[in-house]
Amino acid sequence: MPLPVRPAVARLPVYLPGKPAPLGPGGVSYKLSSNENPFPPLPGVIEAAELACAQMNRYPDMGNVAVTTALSEKLSVAADRLAFGTGSVAVLYHLLQAFCEAGDEVIFAWRSFEAYPIAVQVTGATAVPVPLAPGCVHDLDAMHAAITPATKAILVCTPNNPTGPTVPHQKLADFIDAVPDSILVVVDEAYVEFVTDPQAARGMELMAGRPNVVVLRTFSKAYGLAGFRIGYSVADPEVTTAVRATALPFGVSLPAQAAAVASLAAEDALLERVAALVSERDALAAGLVGLGFDVPDAEGNFVWLPAAGATATYAETFARAGVMVRPYAAGNDSDGVRITVGEPAANRLVLEVAATLPR
Ligand SMILES: *Cc1c(COP(=O)(O)O)cnc(C)c1O
Repeated sequence: MPLPVRPAVARLPVYLPGKPAPLGPGGVSYKLSSNENPFPPLPGVIEAAELACAQMNRYPDMGNVAVTTALSEKLSVAADRLAFGTGSVAVLYHLLQAFCEAGDEVIFAWRSFEAYPIAVQVTGATAVPVPLAPGCVHDLDAMHAAITPATKAILVCTPNNPTGPTVPHQKLADFIDAVPDSILVVVDEAYVEFVTDPQAARGMELMAGRPNVVVLRTFSKAYGLAGFRIGYSVADPEVTTAVRATALPFGVSLPAQAAAVASLAAEDALLERVAALVSERDALAAGLVGLGFDVPDAEGNFVWLPAAGATATYAETFARAGVMVRPYAAGNDSDGVRITVGEPAANRLVLEVAATLPR
């Protein structure tokens, strides 16, 4: 007799992590497949984490008190609106687990973050993907039309991973106001620090007077702590209590909490690095457009290269040059590769290789 794995789990799509960098000519090797930060940890972060390591015989602070206090001050939000997890993906799992079960539906744009369908289906709920509109942007009208009495949550990724554009602030505000307020609207702002479009959605502002809005943020991308696993939600206190209730006890390690606090204290260095990455991103996107690629608006630390049927060829061509990119190959015209903005030399190489690609 096979052991009875839940049917919802047996049907889960598999999360494909970004592959490690291949070795190109002359030992060149860049991993641009996971939207990681090419900079080392911010000043003071390694020291703070090391100090915390001395307490590894103890369980971490389950209340994440130090980082809650630091963040509450920085964001000017009450501590009872902040919930932490081992990355904002974990927080999303906790949130969906608190609100969704079999028979429920969760709407999100597609293509979007690969973790969404998995996080939804783990709860037993049904994923309702809504195709992106031209320009690889969220189709909020179609997402609204997808709402049924079973809808429990709507996930909005802005900027959208892997395609790049943000959702405009006013459009998202109008959308949320048109959604029944019993439905959670989750605004995933994993890349918010890199956004330069003044029209882009500002999740924290959208929360005002709208208790069904949940903002997800992470220390993995701009702050460069992807390997330490810490992210958070900002939400109504009752929603926050529910997220905390389903969270794994002692999930976030003490070194991760300490690293996050130290990272928040290194604001100037953070802003400098973000500015450098943004300028590299803009140059990379402009360079690709100059080569004739139809690159959508890039507002994260990555660019989307539409490739349709040539997706595998593109990825292989980059790999031969020592650059690992992330192919998205579902077998249709919306396929392409996502390229993380890396160090300047990596971005230069991306443009060199891109110039050789068939179009
Ligand atoms: C990277 C990413 C996250 C955060 O990942 P964690 O490392 O789990 O914090 C969340 N949402 C999107 C869209 C991402 O790309």
